[in-house]
Amino acid sequence: MIKQRTQKPGGRKWSRERYVPKRKVCSFCSDKVELIDYKEPSKLRRYLSDRGKIEPRRRTGACARHQRALAVAIKRARHLALLPYVAAHIPKVGAFAQSS
Ligand SMILES: [Zn+2]
Repeated sequence: MIKQRTQKPGGRKWSRERYVPKRKVCSFCSDKVELIDYKEPSKLRRYLSDRGKIEPRRRTGACARHQRALAVAIKRARHLALLPYVAAHIPKVGAFAQSS
């Protein structure tokens, strides 16, 4: 007796070709940033998710050294209330949001 396999709906086949993303270069390295300034929340804001979390390396594209420095800078900025700790503290869409 042959057991019938239950086919999952929407099961995707993996193509022969692998998904090869473009090799990201650390933006801080290319800009030769030695020190990431925690006093510039407008710059650091880009590295926070919409929920106020620090973006992972695969999103920021930063190298290990700069990702660590970035995390420290964001944490310092949070302590000074320049950046939000939680999503509830992120200002709603308006003149104050994202820009500056
Ligand atoms: Zn780097």
